[in-house]
Amino acid sequence: MKVGVPKELKPGERRVALVPEAVKKLTDKGFDVVVERGAGEHANLSDGEYEEAGAKVGAAADAWAADAVLKVAPPEPSESPRPGSVLIGFLSALMNAELVRRLAEGRVTSFAMEAIPRTTRAQSMDALSSQAVVAGYRATLAGAQALGKFFPMLTTAAGTVRPARVLVLGAGVAGLQAIATARRLGAVVEAYDVRPAVKEEVQSLGAKFVEIEVKQEGDGSGSGEYAREVSADVQRRQQELLAERVGAADVVITTAAVPGRPAPRLVSAEMVRTMRPGSVVVDLAAETGGNCELTAPGTVQVRDGVTIDATLNLPSQMPFHASLLYANNVVSLLTHLAPEGELLLDFDDEITAGAAVTHDGRIVNERVADAVGAPAPAGGGQ
Ligand code: NAD
Repeated sequence: MKVGVPKELKPGERRVALVPEAVKKLTDKGFDVVVERGAGEHANLSDGEYEEAGAKVGAAADAWAADAVLKVAPPEPSESPRPGSVLIGFLSALMNAELVRRLAEGRVTSFAMEAIPRTTRAQSMDALSSQAVVAGYRATLAGAQALGKFFPMLTTAAGTVRPARVLVLGAGVAGLQAIATARRLGAVVEAYDVRPAVKEEVQSLGAKFVEIEVKQEGDGSGSGEYAREVSADVQRRQQELLAERVGAADVVITTAAVPGRPAPRLVSAEMVRTMRPGSVVVDLAAETGGNCELTAPGTVQVRDGVTIDATLNLPSQMPFHASLLYANNVVSLLTHLAPEGELLLDFDDEITAGAAVTHDGRIVNERVADAVGAPAPAGGGQ
């Protein structure tokens, strides 16, 4: 089976779907790999390293001619996967009706990395988690960089410096990594999440869990491991209590998300006004609209003296390790779909069925079909 890795064309995308180490894993298993010339350039991976790992380096057309094409970002309109081929990547399938229709009409079998079930069995393929780790880490560094203060407490001959106060809202994968990074830098960290189950994890990282007593129907835990949207009443109570914590923080890192919904608004413009000038808000939820009312996705702005950093695609700012982890996820999925080096698609398998978006000229994922307004698939994807 021939695997192709084209260069990412999306502006600002610096990751690459396979790193040389991952190429070697695939060639050892009998796959042929073609990497587009310069595909790893922005992640500081040279064509020579890919060749040493066993890949052929060629033109974009060679990579797209493969049986399976591995991508990070969804294909651009100028990129046309070959009919009958397999495409694997973040496809933003729920929000990308045009692409999904194009893939179905083009008879491409596509798998969306964002749709892989978050189960223990699929953990090694979970690219949402691997990239969230990178984003959480980078968010803390961005906050530290923009803040005109030390993170750690320092006792020097010139005086004592008090540690910075960091507040992390949303303690999922990215939030926990942001907490761990801020703690390593010596900040005093508080965190809040609507799912009380994360309290222990937060505390084990040396941060304080902000308790918000909620007298309502259950808590904010939804089905599986995810949060659900909270009622207007709970939202109001959250806002009152969070206002105090936001005002006391030097850096607020927000990561709160509810799958398939716009990000919850947790930090109002009024709360930002209570922060000391020079403070920083890093809004990791900017991709889905932002947790802060002042967030303008893709920008860094200063409002009332407070920096609001809503940079998009943070994993791309650390392309080497982001690509390495992503490549491991992709190799894991590909070898799941083609265990002996040839495709063996079993749509009764929850990972294959969960990640598949299009197959055999149809949209085979019910949620995607709903979202793009196509008829729902009947009887699985075969
Ligand atoms: P996410 O990106 O969907 O959300 C980030 C966090 O925001 C979540 O912790 C969520 O509870 C929180 N949140 C949502 N609304 C909020 C609100 N109004 N106020 C405060 N916080 C709010 O989540 P994620 O990081 O992708 O993962 C969610 C959970 O799934 C985590 O606990 C993670 O450990 C778990 N998970 C499990 C597996 C697995 O079992 N294989 C894999 C990945 C993630």
